[in-house]
Amino acid sequence: MGCSLAYYLARKKIRVILVEKSHVGAEASGRNAGGVRQQGRNPAELPLAMESVKMWPSLSKELGYDIDYRRVGNLYVARNKKQLEDFKKRVEHEREAGLDVRMVTPAEACRLMPSLVKEKIYGGTYCPTDGVANPIRITFAFAQAAKALGAKLYTHTEVVGIELSGNEIKFVNTTKGKMGGEVVVNATGPWASVIGKMVGLHIPIQPKRAQMMITQQLPQNACAPFIVTPGDYGYWTQTLHGNVLLGHTSRPVEQYDIGVTFEAISFQTQKTLQFLPSFKKVAIIRCYSGLTEWTPDGIPIISFVKEIKGFIVDAGYSGHGFCIGPISGKLVSEMIIDGRPSLSLKAFEYSRFQK
Ligand SMILES: Cc1cc2nc3c(=O)[nH]c(=O)nc-3n(C[C@H](O)[C@H](O)[C@H](O)COP(=O)(O)OP(=O)(O)OC[C@H]3O[C@@H](n4cnc5c(N)ncnc54)[C@H](O)[C@@H]3O)c2cc1C
Repeated sequence: MGCSLAYYLARKKIRVILVEKSHVGAEASGRNAGGVRQQGRNPAELPLAMESVKMWPSLSKELGYDIDYRRVGNLYVARNKKQLEDFKKRVEHEREAGLDVRMVTPAEACRLMPSLVKEKIYGGTYCPTDGVANPIRITFAFAQAAKALGAKLYTHTEVVGIELSGNEIKFVNTTKGKMGGEVVVNATGPWASVIGKMVGLHIPIQPKRAQMMITQQLPQNACAPFIVTPGDYGYWTQTLHGNVLLGHTSRPVEQYDIGVTFEAISFQTQKTLQFLPSFKKVAIIRCYSGLTEWTPDGIPIISFVKEIKGFIVDAGYSGHGFCIGPISGKLVSEMIIDGRPSLSLKAFEYSRFQK
C-alpha cells in the first residue's frame, strides 16, 4: 500500500517520504500469491476491487516495468452442497453489483482446471476478469516509479517513535533521524497496531501467518485459473514459469514469526491431495510464509483518525489486499490532496471500532 500511495502522490507532485524498515516488498506485498480477485469479497470491498481490476492491465506500461499481469480467471470450487448454496447467494449479489461472474457445473469446473476430480466437487463460480500478477514486481514497480517522480525512499529505516504536541504530530522518529510532513500514513500492515501505540491509539489489527508451498514447473494448464475452495483447503495458482503455488489459510501467530512449520506443510499437503490427487508425485521445491493483517470484521481501515491531526490508517486488508493495492493508493492520495476520494471509503473508517 505504501509504494502504491507514494506513486499516486508523487504523480500529483506531492512531496513524499516512504520509510520501510526492510527492503521494498519484504513483507506480504512481495510474498503473496498474486491473486487479483474480485469474486468472493466482502460486499463493501467489491467496488474497490472492480475499480482496481480496471487499473491492473495498464500498470506495466504506466510504471515502465513488466508486472506479469495475466487475466487467467478465478474459480471458486464447492466441495459440498452447503458451499454451493452459499456461492449461489453470493453470485446473485455480485452480478447485481455488475461483476461478470457465473455458476459453473462440476464438468465445466474440470474443463477450466483439468486436475480437479469431477466426483469430488459440487460445482463452483467463475469470474473471467480476475487474474494474477507478480507481487514483487508490482511493489518494486510502484516504488521505482514513485522515486523517479521525486519521492524519497528510505529503506532499512525503521519508525521507532512519533513525537506529539497535543493532537498534532511534530516528528516521526526513525533509525535514520527525525522526519515529518503534513500527513503521516500508517501503512505498516500487520504492524499498524505497533505504530498506533506510538500515538496512543488502539488499532485492532492482528497478524496471522500464511504459508506457501511451491512445486516444480508443470505444464501451463496444470492450474489454469486461480483456484480457491472454502475452509482450510486454501488456494492454488500457477506462475508464468509453470510452478504451482499452494497457499494455506492464515493462522494466528505470536511475535510476527514467519517460520515454516512441518505441521502446516503436513496439513496443507494432505488437504491438497484430497482435493487434487494428481499432485501426489509432484515435487515441492520451496516453502515460505508471510504475515497477513486482520481486523475484527475482515475489511481494512482506510481513514483519517480524528484523535490525531493528519494521521491516516491504511492497513488491515485482512489477507486479501493485493488486488486492491492500486486503487487504494489512488483513493488515499485523493483523500490527502482533495479531501474526497472518488469512491466512498465510509465502510473503512477507523471509528467503526470505537462504537
Ligand atoms: C502468503 C500470502 C498470500 C497472499 N495472497 C494474496 C492474494 O493472492 N491476493 C490478495 O489480494 N492478497 C493476498 N495476500 C494479502 C496481501 O498480500 C496483503 O493484504 C497486502 O500485501 C497488504 O499490504 P500492506 O502494504 O498493507 O502490508 P505489507 O505488505 O505487510 O507492508 C507493510 C510494510 O510496513 C513495513 N513496516 C512495518 N513496521 C515498520 C516500521 N516500524 N517502520 C518502517 N516500516 C515498517 C514492513 O516492513 C512492510 O514492508 C496474501 C498475503 C500473504 C502473506
